[in-house]
Amino acid sequence: MTTVGVLRETAGRERRVALTPDGVARLRRGGEFRVLVETGAGRPAWFDDRAYAEAGAEIGSRQQVYDESEVLLVVRPPDDVAAVPPGRILIGLLDPLGDPALAEMLADQGVTAISLDLLPRTLSRAQPMDALTSQANVAGYKAALLAAEAYGGFFPMLVTAAGTTRPAQVLVLGAGVAGLQALATARRLGAQVTGYDVREAARADIASTGAAVLELGSGQNTDDGYARQLGDDEAARQLSALTAAVPRFDVVITTAKVPGGRSPLLVSDEALAAMKPGSVVIDLGGNVAGAAADTRAVTDHGVTVIGAPNLASTVPVAASTAYARNVVALLGSLLPDGRLPSDSTDEVLAAVLVTHDGEVVHPRLRDVQVGGVDERDAQVRGVHERDFQESDVQKKETR
Ligand code: NAD
Repeated sequence: MTTVGVLRETAGRERRVALTPDGVARLRRGGEFRVLVETGAGRPAWFDDRAYAEAGAEIGSRQQVYDESEVLLVVRPPDDVAAVPPGRILIGLLDPLGDPALAEMLADQGVTAISLDLLPRTLSRAQPMDALTSQANVAGYKAALLAAEAYGGFFPMLVTAAGTTRPAQVLVLGAGVAGLQALATARRLGAQVTGYDVREAARADIASTGAAVLELGSGQNTDDGYARQLGDDEAARQLSALTAAVPRFDVVITTAKVPGGRSPLLVSDEALAAMKPGSVVIDLGGNVAGAAADTRAVTDHGVTVIGAPNLASTVPVAASTAYARNVVALLGSLLPDGRLPSDSTDEVLAAVLVTHDGEVVHPRLRDVQVGGVDERDAQVRGVHERDFQESDVQKKETR
């Protein structure tokens, strides 16, 4: 029987847990796994040790979890990653492209690392394991709620004895998983919603939520569903068109990202200065001038700007429940007996496997390594500096 260990999250403000009691019960159903949960691991997400024990888990100290578990589950990389013993399989959202030094460290330690953020999402077999989608969905939902809370007016049109209120005008920039959920949630709250994405194909997705589509002229036709980085001229044209459009809205939620590329700037200082006092901007994607992660600031002109790159963590029950199901699906599909299959021809496994047998094995990371440490760090910093500002600082401080 393989022991699966669940570690308490150590990243600042992180409230999710990698496996919920429901996940424990699902995992134990097949009889292949023993589950050992670090004491208090689920507490920030409102799952207490007793609930884990009732679901069939054992509770132990952090050291015991490290010592006794063949497989270790986390949401984000643990601060004490150096304590992971050799031979263990570490599974989480490890962001190896944002932090390749972590991958090297894990390889040197002889740890096998599997990162859910590298999953090939369009393969139907991989969809139950798609933690990026499950977490983006939660983040998009919370973005709309956060906006409604920060906004000084009603979202819906209300007809009362004291008169009629107009609905809030909400614009969502970037209509991937998080953006579409933000549109749908803001609409359920009664706002008048408008969406925009650089991909042509996203227009139909925006319309399917009942939102209007913001027209800015040309868009991209992409084969894989992912946006490409815009050239400087295109980006400048887009920013100028958005700078004209954004001030018409009471609330703007930004979620735009480019995989392997820099997050586009979509809300400029000029746009912020032209918005009405009382307007609210929620930045999930790293798209707003001057927005800082996990910070709520009010401009001199009275616009509230909230940097919110890790909103899934603020809805910890829903986010952990969905994440746990992703992890259970991954274990069932890729490591049915808790071990890596000896022939690793599985395309999903090949895509998520970062380190194995003392080597960094993921092709994208190996490509980056070829350029040497300086080039690699520069590339990766360029890619992620907007999105991962705070988490990078935390990682550097704690190692
Ligand atoms: P993401 O987080 O990478 O980016 C969010 C959105 O930002 C994307 O829609 C992207 O087009 C948009 N964007 C990027 N640059 C922009 C710019 N300059 N201006 C405006 N918008 C910009 O996206 P995601 O949520 O991970 O989804 C990416 C794609 O993957 C989508 O097509 C989505 O439907 C697809 N997807 C498919 C599956 C599946 O097949 N199961 C699962 C998840 C996502």
